[in-house]
Amino acid sequence: MNLDLSPDDERFRQEVRSYFETGYPQDILAKVRNGQRLTKADLRASEQALSAKGWLAPGWPEAYGGPGWTVTQRFIFDEELERVGAPNVSPMGLLYVAPVIMAFGTQAQKDRWLPDILASRVFWAQGYSEPGAGSDLASLRTAAVLDGDHYVVNGEKTWTSLGHHAEWIFCLVRTQTTERKQEGITFLCIDMATPGVQVTPIISIDGGHSLNRVSLQDVRVPVENRIGEEGRGWTYARHLLSHERTSYAHVAAKRRQMESLKAASAAAPWGDLLESQGGLRRRFAEVEIGLTALEMTTYRALAPLSSGQAPGDEASILKIHATETAQAITELFVNLAGDYGEPYFENRFREDWRAGLEDIPAFAAPGVAEYFQTRAQTIYGGTNEIQRNIIARQLGL
Ligand SMILES: Cc1cc2nc3c(=O)[nH]c(=O)nc-3n(C[C@H](O)[C@H](O)[C@H](O)COP(=O)(O)OP(=O)(O)OC[C@H]3O[C@@H](n4cnc5c(N)ncnc54)[C@H](O)[C@@H]3O)c2cc1C
Repeated sequence: MNLDLSPDDERFRQEVRSYFETGYPQDILAKVRNGQRLTKADLRASEQALSAKGWLAPGWPEAYGGPGWTVTQRFIFDEELERVGAPNVSPMGLLYVAPVIMAFGTQAQKDRWLPDILASRVFWAQGYSEPGAGSDLASLRTAAVLDGDHYVVNGEKTWTSLGHHAEWIFCLVRTQTTERKQEGITFLCIDMATPGVQVTPIISIDGGHSLNRVSLQDVRVPVENRIGEEGRGWTYARHLLSHERTSYAHVAAKRRQMESLKAASAAAPWGDLLESQGGLRRRFAEVEIGLTALEMTTYRALAPLSSGQAPGDEASILKIHATETAQAITELFVNLAGDYGEPYFENRFREDWRAGLEDIPAFAAPGVAEYFQTRAQTIYGGTNEIQRNIIARQLGL
């Protein structure tokens, strides 16, 4: 495999790098460097800056407003975005529901929803999981009953990432009870402003609010908001998940974390543990080797995309490897922070969140908060145990 970039790709990298260093909103990068949490306004400003450049949806076909990049260019773009520490795009609209709308939506649905996603005027949330339906998603019970030209929806979705930011949510709902529970599921898009939609925050162990419960009580959803046919939602949901699972690699962000870990170790007030502790040094080396292997796996998993195919079961291998590597990296933050690893700083939206905490190394709180966040990576998008089942089935085991 020849991994050298062509002169054109090198030029492309320089163009993207120079944009992030000068054209992209520098106040957002400053917040990231300062360890602050980003607000909805920050995330939207970031996305709208990329959108103005025509770079918000690298994976979209040109016909829908994508930039027409090759898979290599998309990879370079992600690398440069992560290298400077710019936030990744909110995936629910751009990466998850948009490909479903493109593949299975009507022209009217495409005209209605895709331009708002592409301009980041509207955020979406993913309403799949329920209190009794996670890994066994097909057990979902949120019911949609047809009443004239509306569905009346009742039920509860949970673990809804960024549901409090979202203007729309795509949901799997049950329109029929059948013997095979994968049948009778329908894919509905719901305006979060509809009466009966209620969002309740779930505060996670890192002290942050990204998760929510979304309860739906007699929510009237026009039939025209249904994607595809009634009862065939499971097929559309599976299409979406294969896209979701290839979106976890973030190799450049992981390399950036490794660099900041080394810098943190060198600057730590208790001395450079990487210098003094051979065991820790060996662990760093093991994690970096795993990261290089992840990079190669990513190239392999993304290869089908260059011929326009959906990612295959390789997506499951990538999901396992990427999420376990993320956890291994953030464990190193905990190793370095030791007793200073207190993650619960409510006020990390503020620029001066370190006031009064100057003797605590700056990396400790954000690094340890990330450690807690990455615990969830092996759960969401289908747990890693479920990914192992998929791989085993593929191998005929
Ligand atoms: C941070 C975070 C963000 C999320 N965001 C969203 C979101 O935006 N939208 C959304 O719809 N959902 C979201 N989820 C939900 C996520 O998809 C589910 O948590 C996940 O599918 C697991 O379901 P569960 O939590 O019900 O666990 P369970 O399915 O109850 O699993 C519990 C344990 O049993 C194991 N297990 C279950 N079945 C099997 C099996 N057949 N073989 C082997 N082991 C098995 C699991 O691997 C797990 O370890 C999010 C979750 C988290 C943690």
